[in-house]
Amino acid sequence: MSLDDPRTIHLADYTPFTHVVEQVHLTFRLAPGATRVISKIAFAPNPDSKGGAFFLHGEDLKLIHARIDGESVIPNAAEGGITCDVPEGPFTWEAEVEISPQTNTALEGLYMSNGMYCTQCEAEGFRKITFYPDRPDVMAPFDVRIEGELPVLLSNGNPAARGDGWAEWSDPWPKPAYLFALVAGDLVNHPDRFTTRSGRDVELNIWVREPDLGKCAFGMDALKRSMKWDEEVYGREYDLDIFNIVAVDDFNMGAMENKGLNIFNSSAVLASPETATDANFERIESIIAHEYFHNWTGNRITCRDWFQLCLKEGLTVFRDQQFSGDERSHAVQRINDVLALRARQFREDNGPLAHPVRPESFVEINNFYTATVYEKGAEVIGMLKRLVGDEGYSKALDLYFSRHDGDAATIEDWLKVFEDATGRDLSQFKRWYSQAGTPRIAVQESFDNGTYTLTLSQSTPPTPGQPDKEPLVIPVAVGLLSPNGDEVVPTRVLELTEAEQSFTFDGLSAKPVASILRSFSAPVVLERDQSASERAFLLAHDTDPFNKWEAGRALAKDVLIRMITEGAAPDPALLTALENVARDETLDPAFRALALGLPGQDDLAQTLYQSGRTPDPLAIYDAVQQLRKAIAEQLGTTLSDLYDDMAVHGPYRPDAGDAGQRALRQAALGFLSLLDGGVRAQSQYETADNMTEQLGALACLLDIGKAETALAAFRHQWQEDRLVMDKWFGLQSGLAAPAKAAAAVHRLTEDPGFDWKNPNRFRAVMGGLAMNAAGFHDPSGASYALLTDWLILLDPVNPQTTARMLTAFETWKHYDADRQGLIRENLERLAATPGLSRDSSEMVGRILG
Ligand code: ZN
Repeated sequence: MSLDDPRTIHLADYTPFTHVVEQVHLTFRLAPGATRVISKIAFAPNPDSKGGAFFLHGEDLKLIHARIDGESVIPNAAEGGITCDVPEGPFTWEAEVEISPQTNTALEGLYMSNGMYCTQCEAEGFRKITFYPDRPDVMAPFDVRIEGELPVLLSNGNPAARGDGWAEWSDPWPKPAYLFALVAGDLVNHPDRFTTRSGRDVELNIWVREPDLGKCAFGMDALKRSMKWDEEVYGREYDLDIFNIVAVDDFNMGAMENKGLNIFNSSAVLASPETATDANFERIESIIAHEYFHNWTGNRITCRDWFQLCLKEGLTVFRDQQFSGDERSHAVQRINDVLALRARQFREDNGPLAHPVRPESFVEINNFYTATVYEKGAEVIGMLKRLVGDEGYSKALDLYFSRHDGDAATIEDWLKVFEDATGRDLSQFKRWYSQAGTPRIAVQESFDNGTYTLTLSQSTPPTPGQPDKEPLVIPVAVGLLSPNGDEVVPTRVLELTEAEQSFTFDGLSAKPVASILRSFSAPVVLERDQSASERAFLLAHDTDPFNKWEAGRALAKDVLIRMITEGAAPDPALLTALENVARDETLDPAFRALALGLPGQDDLAQTLYQSGRTPDPLAIYDAVQQLRKAIAEQLGTTLSDLYDDMAVHGPYRPDAGDAGQRALRQAALGFLSLLDGGVRAQSQYETADNMTEQLGALACLLDIGKAETALAAFRHQWQEDRLVMDKWFGLQSGLAAPAKAAAAVHRLTEDPGFDWKNPNRFRAVMGGLAMNAAGFHDPSGASYALLTDWLILLDPVNPQTTARMLTAFETWKHYDADRQGLIRENLERLAATPGLSRDSSEMVGRILG
């Protein structure tokens, strides 16, 4: 299934397409069960072609007829498409095909969601719409005509003409087929306008179903802020007269950057104070920005082939993270980004699914929209920026946009602009793109005669297909504090390029305390045996907010690991340190909330595994519960003061300040509920006027097993709201008590509201279970079996969502023999399912190894 799968596609095998496409014209005659797609495509020989037969992709298409230069032709069926004899020079290809959007449950190509037609073409969905060279390096302008008796008919580009039952769109910017989009339905719009800095007046719309019209204002505001930010920070302007966003309920991912017509999972755009949490608002802002930013990083400059996916995704994630930091708080943004990186990417890197930021082979590209390509891809860009400096970065980016506008580019092109703009040799740095795994950095320190010496050594553990690793270029940001807490050496970026390297700092009057890897300057694991007192010192004094938080986190982790492995009691030093941070009013409430957050159970399992121990999920769960109780008891008064003081008065606003206060108050409530029997949570539940506080209270009640009444009330209140009901499902499966999780989730799947073909609902329930570490790893294996049963059911319906959910098993080798046996049984059962999709068979093959 893995390396020798005959379906494997290799980066090394790239060849240009035989032809170029000069113009595409598409006509859609919409009908749910039989849509006709009529294409007229102008091809010309590609001067860069290495020869070969003329091949067009096509899947599940019923060919009605095909013509070349007006003459009927009969193409030959080939694997995944057709071949055809074509003239030597330029020619026009015409084809009419029939497709069935109504029965398209995979949500790839043209499909229907709640009576609305919509498309998803990335990565290889366009071939399910018509015959075409469905590869990102074939770029062309598209004209589209849509015929259908629906009030709203949308496609990419600018509106060209419209009449009763039809509309025409024209997109002047050459684009690959994966950026094509069409939407048709009974929709209403939330309109606005934006004037670009050169004076282009742009019409903006968010299109939704009528009942959702009240949930668009925040997304629109985020869009306008994104447009302005990209002008100011990257000098990038919008390039069409209209920008449309559409919300759809059935969508496999978060959102899609189709040119001029972004399509969003409704969960990634719709928000109102009553129905969306602060976390939802924050996520919506970042996804709106992300998709908008793709207009330059992804659309104007796209990828030569899918191996270069990080070229657009890593860069665009980096840009949306910068944006969110600018709009909110850089410190909080960085901590959250690192939390997500560790939870998803480090986890991926430490198991059978580890792969380089630029993979070298795949069977199904959908399986490579991963945390490594996206989040580690963004980290790699952050390192580049740190190495060349802000000015070098902005010169390189200007060069990138001017040199490659209109291109389908590669990582080599990307690195070359940095080399040309800054004169720096990036050949060693390039290993970040090809070498998988999370580097470990070990730290040794010495102090002698006023000189502090820091010795760093790097190593990267083996990953599938890569037993030996070479040293990387690692920017390590370091600052030194004197024993009285003053910063004596401000942040300096050390460049670690060798396996082992020493750095010295002279003229110090006393042995300093080093703050290493400030701002998390590289995506590595810092292996540093540090005393609890030094960690507490950094938590109190570090001037780098990330490392300040990190010190507290490391302290809590050390304590938890000792509780888990030695049965130690909660360390009073940790409790004191946490209390000091919680009370410190000079600190942003959002930061304090993060500091009160304990390491996740999966994170602890990873840490135990990496230190050579076998994690026991139940022991981890118990230790975390015990520590939470101890914090609640020790910090009782502080927490109840915080709970009162952090109350936000006045109407709900989703801004970072208010959200931070609510986050700190929620952290306090979580602990307090362990002591007060849920009195505060119950009353908060009853009086909340926003979803953040309502859901927060519900979570606390669930946590202490007292949510029955609130759950029923919640359901009664929100049963008509799909996105809110996803929360109701997700919370219950995520917070089910360990031994009862499988049973509780099974009950949820029998609920009439469990619409399992809807990816959001499926993910709420099954993703919730997978994240409920102790419940998922129940020793009976009941949760493994339950998830597997549902994946087997979902696979033929929606392979993409099935394959993604399989990552729940990616850490399976970390656990004991019994659990491994149970998981293996289930994975093998899945692997043996007749007709298993390419998506899932590749994933299960790689996971089994
Ligand atoms: Zn993206």
